[in-house]
Amino acid sequence: MKPDCMILRLGELTLKGRNRRKFEKSVLSQIRKALSEFTSLRYIPEYGRVYVELGDASYEDAAIKLQKVFGLASFSPAFTAPLELEAIQETALTIMKHLRKQPATFKVSVRRVNKSFPYDSQKMNYLVGGYVLQASHGLTVDVHDPEVELRVELREEKALLYAEVEEGAGGFPLGTGGRALLLLSGGIDSPVAGWLAMRKGLELEAIHFHSYPYTSERAKEKVIDLARQLSGYTHSIKLHLVSFTDIQTSIHGVYKDNLFVTLLRRAMYRIAEKVAEREGLSALVTGESLGQVASQTLPSLNAIGRVVTLPILQPLMMMDKKEIVRIAESIGTFPISILPYEDCCTLFLPPSPSTNPNIRVIEKIESSMEFLPGLIEQAVMQTETIRIVYEDKAIATQHLF
Ligand code: ATP
Ligand code: MG
Repeated sequence: MKPDCMILRLGELTLKGRNRRKFEKSVLSQIRKALSEFTSLRYIPEYGRVYVELGDASYEDAAIKLQKVFGLASFSPAFTAPLELEAIQETALTIMKHLRKQPATFKVSVRRVNKSFPYDSQKMNYLVGGYVLQASHGLTVDVHDPEVELRVELREEKALLYAEVEEGAGGFPLGTGGRALLLLSGGIDSPVAGWLAMRKGLELEAIHFHSYPYTSERAKEKVIDLARQLSGYTHSIKLHLVSFTDIQTSIHGVYKDNLFVTLLRRAMYRIAEKVAEREGLSALVTGESLGQVASQTLPSLNAIGRVVTLPILQPLMMMDKKEIVRIAESIGTFPISILPYEDCCTLFLPPSPSTNPNIRVIEKIESSMEFLPGLIEQAVMQTETIRIVYEDKAIATQHLF
């Protein structure tokens, strides 16, 4: 027996009134977009959720697409039955027998919307639960904390039954939070930061700094692959590729000491802000996590962050590496990130980068580098921009929240 419909629950229950309606409308439009290839679907919006008739579409195929819709809290495969006791009992038993994991405990929760149905919900709990029990070995009822809750809705024309609940991506629908620029390296962290930002409703463009020919063409390809994997959540993503080679070699020509990385990062942020402003984006998103490396101590973050005025959003700041890796795996960026191609920042790395840079010293060094503002302008002007469109061959994702 295959599910003939599904129940989609829309997230962010804290929203009320007009905001709630706006939220639901925009999640529904993202859902329709994600499922547009399934032409047989019929959507019936209900309060806080959407009931979808599948027609000839497969639930499993639709579920893969739904995993990528932000604002969707959870969803369930569901089965309809005629409004007759025996049919409902049989359907309930079939659902329980075909669960992916057989539970030890369950309960039945019946909701009677159709008041002309002869048995009330209490009686139906008993009639359906009892029927399943007597046909199943090793299953018991636990009304307080069951492993599986089998829900039965007695609607006007039919009964609707479902037991499995899949977690959706949650968050806010794409684009409802504004637009930002993601600083995307080839590492593990920044793609995760990007995903978390998108999950909060931000639409992203990405910027990547490379030191070609010191870094290889393949390192650039890797970042394109990461952007492609992220584009699965947005359909397409604009990627700005910046050559950082001249800036690195010029700075290195006059300064090689322990503030080198800080100087590079400041140049990077300045370029990113200029590109963001040119593209009409209102924040930078980066993958820093407090204390991870020398450039991510509080004094370093302070010395780097102050060169821009746009807000810098750093979703990983307080997260453990383990948690970041878990998300990277679930969104499919991890296997790409661990490919062994070098990042531009590893070029000319001093033996002990400063963890406590002095801002006055940095500003003095920068003021002696008269070439710097010109090179920054040049890097912005010469940015190469490509649009990356999602392809289904991008690595499959598992569901996360
Ligand atoms: P990641 O895993 O994202 O590379 P990281 O732990 O290696 O992060 P850093 O190398 O200090 O940390 O970089 C901090 C952040 O700066 C990155 O998360 C990213 O947002 C940005 N960044 C670093 N290198 C680049 C680059 N080559 N192009 C674009 N952004 C970069
Ligand atoms: Mg890195």
